[in-house]
Amino acid sequence: MAEKRDYYEVLGVAKGATEADLKKAYRNLAKKYHPDVNPGDKDAEAKFKEINEAYEVLSDPEKRAKYDQYGHAAFDPSMGGGGSGFGGGFGGFDFGDIFSSVFGGGFGGGFGGGGGGRRSRAVDGDDLLARVSLDFEESFKGAKKDISYRRVEECPDCHGSGAKKGTDVETCSQCHGTGQVMTQQRTPFGVMQSATTCPSCRGRGKTIKDPCTNCSGKGYVRVAKKLAVDIPAGIADGNRIVLRGKGDAGRGGGQDGDLVIEVSVKRHPLFERQGDHVYCEVPITFTEATLGAEIEIPTLEGKQTYEIPEGTQYGTTFTLRGKGMPNVNTKRRGDLVFSVVIEVPKNLSEEQKRELREFAASCGESNNAKKTSFLKKFFGKK
Ligand SMILES: [Zn+2]
Ligand SMILES: [Zn+2]
Repeated sequence: MAEKRDYYEVLGVAKGATEADLKKAYRNLAKKYHPDVNPGDKDAEAKFKEINEAYEVLSDPEKRAKYDQYGHAAFDPSMGGGGSGFGGGFGGFDFGDIFSSVFGGGFGGGFGGGGGGRRSRAVDGDDLLARVSLDFEESFKGAKKDISYRRVEECPDCHGSGAKKGTDVETCSQCHGTGQVMTQQRTPFGVMQSATTCPSCRGRGKTIKDPCTNCSGKGYVRVAKKLAVDIPAGIADGNRIVLRGKGDAGRGGGQDGDLVIEVSVKRHPLFERQGDHVYCEVPITFTEATLGAEIEIPTLEGKQTYEIPEGTQYGTTFTLRGKGMPNVNTKRRGDLVFSVVIEVPKNLSEEQKRELREFAASCGESNNAKKTSFLKKFFGKK
């Protein structure tokens, strides 16, 4: 077995090197000798292990102190030195952990591109909600409506880079472009690692020296938008129309969000919609109800006449098939259903009252079948 080299020598730093110096030296060497950059190179692999081992010890103040005092004997069980506290030495030591604690994130995409680091993560754009209000008639016929809203878009000045025209965007030196840093915490169970958003670049992986003035370096801006939207016939109150990709723009290759348009339909003074059927109450006179009549009724297309029969009772409903609302999807129309409300005549003259009393006196049980049977049910009268 070859003589173990001094850890400071391995990293090429002086004995009194600061933590930052150590980290910097480690980074440079680790990049150079990383197996991804030197596939199949056994020497590089050995070097890489050596570098990691050295940094693992020297980056830990406690281990570094022992090493400074005892040298390699501090960590070699066979030497019986002061190493009892370090359980097992380096046999099972996973340099992946130490590596990622310095570089943040995984090994995968890092080094092939000449130290460019990983691209910052893709962020999907948010969905946006807009509201539009329609008259009842518009919901029947369909309408074209202007929708005004605000949307996040790539900044036109810097094309999303966040850097002022002609200046450079640099890979963040703290996270090396990954957008994340690993934080370590010592607990009784060992060292816990967690990834957090890089504080220096706020997760973008890039830093900008001279920020774009239009977007303050954010790379995106919120802009007012106007869209003419086709609202289909038959749309109902509370329905939503989704315009794919019209929401906030995605960033870093993320998907654009949707624009969701929520429709509200104003109440109509006469019509009420339930499903695709439309309901309406039509007042008729006492005489029309009694004798039958041709009455005028409202429909979605305008007025039309309708023949009601002799002896029409209060609340009787009449159905006009296919005269309701079109279904928003199938366009098949529901029905128009109207019910009659009989208006009892008021403000009669003495002459009218006398005539009506005469009429009443002439009425028999057959004229008022309901009333007659109603009384019989309760009093058993014959
Ligand atoms: Zn900009
Ligand atoms: Zn960063």
